Parts: sequence; C-alpha cells; structure tokens
Amino acid sequence: KELPSDSIAQNTRRQVSKATHSYVNPKVPSHPKLIHASKEMATTIGLEKGTITSQEFLDLFSGSKIYPKTKPYAMAYAGHQFGNWAGQLGDGRAINLFEVKHETERWAIQLKGSGETPYSRQGDGLAVLRSSIREYLCSEAMYHLGVPTTRALSIMLTGDQVLRDVLYNGNPDYEKGAVVARVAPTFIRFGNFELFASKKDTENLKNLTDYTIKHFYPELGEPSKATYIKFFKEVTHRTLKMIIHWQRVGFVHGVMNTDNMSILGLTIDYGPYGWLEGFDFGWTPNTTDRENKRYRYGNQPNIGLWNLLQLANALFPLVEEPEPFEAILNQYQKDFEEKSLDMMRSKLGLNLKLENDPQLMTDLEDCLLLLETDMTIFFRLLGKYKLGNPESGLETIQKAFYHPEEINDTILNQWKVWFKAYDQRLQEERLTDSDREQSMNTVNPKYVLRNYMAQLVIDETNKGNFDLIDELFQVLKKPYQEQPDHEKWFAKRPEWARHKVGCSM
Ligand code: AMP
Ligand code: MG
Ligand code: MG
Repeated sequence: KELPSDSIAQNTRRQVSKATHSYVNPKVPSHPKLIHASKEMATTIGLEKGTITSQEFLDLFSGSKIYPKTKPYAMAYAGHQFGNWAGQLGDGRAINLFEVKHETERWAIQLKGSGETPYSRQGDGLAVLRSSIREYLCSEAMYHLGVPTTRALSIMLTGDQVLRDVLYNGNPDYEKGAVVARVAPTFIRFGNFELFASKKDTENLKNLTDYTIKHFYPELGEPSKATYIKFFKEVTHRTLKMIIHWQRVGFVHGVMNTDNMSILGLTIDYGPYGWLEGFDFGWTPNTTDRENKRYRYGNQPNIGLWNLLQLANALFPLVEEPEPFEAILNQYQKDFEEKSLDMMRSKLGLNLKLENDPQLMTDLEDCLLLLETDMTIFFRLLGKYKLGNPESGLETIQKAFYHPEEINDTILNQWKVWFKAYDQRLQEERLTDSDREQSMNTVNPKYVLRNYMAQLVIDETNKGNFDLIDELFQVLKKPYQEQPDHEKWFAKRPEWARHKVGCSM
C-alpha cells in the first residue's frame, strides 16, 4: 500500500496486524567501512566499474543513506519452525532497500543486520561480523558451485559494537557489528503465503500469488486454478532441484523452516549451515537441533517435501481441490529418488543408467561410513581412479580418511569389493580415464567453504586484515578448477576445528 507522504518509518518492535510489510529505516552506522564487495554481483545489477569503492556505495549499502525516492521496508511472513507453527514472523534482521532492473533481470536488495524492525525477535536486528562473513562468503561460493542461491553484494563493518543476546551463544561479549547487502530476484518465502492463509485472508493470498506468478513465473500464464497448480508444481521442482544440489556438494542448511524456503527455490538464510566433512547422513551443524536432528544432511529431501506440504496447505484456498496437490507431492518422492540417483551417477562418472546402479551407491555409502571419510576429498580423488586397477582403488582415495591408521582387514576388504564392482561398472561406460575425470571434476568440487576456513577468515577480519577474505573469495569463485597455488585449501578439517561447528547468530 502507498505510504501517506507525511508518515515516517517506524522501527520499533511491535505487534503488526493486517500488513504485508512495514516501512523501516536502516540504523545509521557510526563508522561504516567496506570489507569486501562482489564485483560479479555489482556487474550483474548494472553497477559501473569502480562503483564499489565510491562514497555512494558505502553510504547506500551500509545503511547510512537512503536512496532518493525509495522507502525501505521489512516484510511480514509466518512459518513453521522445527515442525511447529510459529505464527507471524517477519524480517527481523533484514531491511529491503529497493529493486533494480538491469537488462532483463530484476533484483531486490536487502541489508541484513541494519537494526530493529517491528518483527525483530530479540529486539536488536543487528548482525555480528562472524555471521555476516559466513553469509557473505557462502552465498557467493554456492553461486559459483552452481547451486541456486540468494547472492551477496557487499559486507561492511558498521563501526558499532553488538552485544549478542546471551540466548544465542551464552556469551555476553561485545562483537563487531556488520551489514551484508544481499540480493535476489525476490525474497518472498513459503512463509509469506502461510501468513495470509493462516489469517484466512484469501484476497491477499491471491494478490501475493498473482504477483509472484506475474513477476517471477510469467511463463505459467494468467491467474486461474490451473495456473496455481502449475505454480505449485514448478516451485516443487525448483525446491527439489536445489536440495539435490545441496546433497551433491555436501551442504547442510541447518534451519529449513518454512520461513527460510524461497518461493524461487533459492538457498536462503545462511545461519548455522555447514559442509559435510566426514560423510554422515546424520550430521547437522545446528547445535540447537542436536537432539532431534530434524535438519540433518540425510533428512533434507524429506524436509523439503514436508515444507512443500505446508505451502500446498497455504495455497489450497485458491484451488479448493486436494488431488492436484497430492499428485505433485507424490511425484516429488519419485523424482527425488530418480534425480538423486542421477546425481550420484554423475559424481561417480557414470553416464548410462543401469539397473544395478542403486546397489553400487548403497554399497559405496556403507563403505564411506566405515571410517570417517572426507566427502569432498573422496569424490575429487575418485576422479583419479584408473580403469582396470581395482586393487589400487583405496590408495587413490586414501587421503580422504581422517584416521587411515584405523584401516583393518575387514575395512580393506569391503573397499576392495566395492572398487571391483565400480571397475566393472566403469567398463560399461567406454570413457577414457581422463574424460571421466574431467566430467567428474565438473560436479565434484575441489574447494568448499569448510567451517574452519570461515573461522580463519573471521579471525583475520576481526583483526582488521581483509586479505584472507579476499583470498578465499577468489578461490571459491572457481570451486571445480585445479588451483595449484591454493592447494592448502584442499585439505581435511584440522583437528582443532573438529568440535567447532558453524554458529548462526
Ligand atoms: P532465522 O532463524 O534466521 O530464520 O530467523 C528467524 C526470525 O528471527 C526472523 O524473523 C529473523 O528476522 C529473526 N532474527 C534473526 N536474527 C535476529 C536478530 N539478530 N535480531 C532480531 N531478529 C532476528
Ligand atoms: Mg530466516
Ligand atoms: Mg537467519
């Protein structure tokens, strides 16, 4: 709705009703300073070369100044958190600045960590440097890995100190405040639809759905029941596609609440996420989810389905027939099995689809669980396997083991059996070793953002040294390429980092 010209933005935390959003202004930082900016992102939204070092860029994306004739706002949404209905939520730490159109693409830009909004959960709405670095680096890393994601434009220090609530980490120390500018075609989530559905506000539910289709799914056609079904189907496809990518690169989101599910199938909200080091279906980086492990690696596809069911419930009033939704959700399960099998085939360098492939995958997963085996290193080294040498298989991937000294005869044998089966399977493919390695190297990244790497960047940046953040940023831009000068980042997690997990706040 149009804001009356004399009204002012109101940032205070309060009960908001009957609103899609609230106008708010970013908190003006005392001493803003640019830490890093993504040149790729700047170019994508149409900024000219050199802009990122300008005063205007610093002013806008630190929250110091509001672009003329724009009205920043925080969005209202709702959601299911950890399986429970959480009611109305909203952008508690994000403020939407404006949208830009460049060429045919349209981009919404948000500041994350720019202070309180009506929806702030704990009141401050600020972000600390460590969580901002984690979001900034990871979203760009994911983009370059080919995983659908929201992007990041810049990260700035605010010059202000932030007291992170004791609830978050039990630590009342002051930390450096930071602001990330993040970018996506839209930040609309499943939770925006759930908000209206929960209030039985079918009129605004329809407005939102029509808006989303018109701007982001125009190919689906004019609003109608049939179009809403097509819309749900397409969101389902995109969500599944995104999750298969997560499984491929070993990314664990950590907080797959419905308010963190993008309606465009983008990875959104980089909180307590983490990367698998030792391959483990049961692993979650989220310390608050250690008991149920709801958002563990192996459960992400199921949670995707559960979240889609919530979206179906929200969209239901527009269609009023359950069958089409049920059919799409049932198909998700079949598609998941097929697509995840194809994804695993690609990781193993297999092009043909053969009947016994699922067994080969299951046996491999069993082997990977015998000893702590680094997922990224394992698949990357597997590309070096030479056909006809199953005896040498284990040697090829040996570096992926955290404790190779624990290999005993039973383990040795199980791996040998697997490599024999893998070798036989490869014989069907008629690919040269080097062609197979090349194709495997396009899906098995060499460089991912391990938690300890982010931690090293956090420590350096905290000291005022911005070289390491740039170094890692550059490395993560080419995750599939060999980078001989950066071989040190192709390494197992060091022992000191074993029990350190990603922190969210
Ligand atoms: P998340 O778990 O990150 O998806 O956040 C859930 C809700 O808490 C959202 O409404 C967030 O905007 C809000 N929130 C997260 N961090 C903060 C913070 N530092 N201050 C205020 N609200 C927050
Ligand atoms: Mg969130
Ligand atoms: Mg968050």
